[in-house]
Amino acid sequence: MSGAAACRKCRRLFEYIAGEEICPECRKAMEGKFHEVKEYIYDHPGCKTDEVARECEVSELDIRSWIKEGRIEYSSSKGSDIYCKYCWAPIATGEVCDACRARLSKDLNGAYVKKKDDPSKEGPGKMRYI
Ligand SMILES: [Zn+2]
Ligand SMILES: [Zn+2]
Repeated sequence: MSGAAACRKCRRLFEYIAGEEICPECRKAMEGKFHEVKEYIYDHPGCKTDEVARECEVSELDIRSWIKEGRIEYSSSKGSDIYCKYCWAPIATGEVCDACRARLSKDLNGAYVKKKDDPSKEGPGKMRYI
């Protein structure tokens, strides 16, 4: 199902298909900004998100969502103002620091192994009694 939706950026109505509610024109403009931001961070290692937002005229929220998606990466986690959502350690990209990522994947595997209850315990043998 598709229909008209108001663009999140320019409030114009457009034919909405999927994903973020951003019209094709704003999306194109955002892609341009994305490359600008990426280059700025590359050229200015150790820069802060608010500084990038100001210099590239992009909203800080957009930059943070790109970092969250892993599309933009700071050159190092040192001095970055992006934090792990579990332990608040500074990270270069994504949402989780390396230590928490390792811990999470271990937890996940542990939970997977534990869940091994045999559902075929009640065999069909009982059915024979009348
Ligand atoms: Zn728009
Ligand atoms: Zn962490």
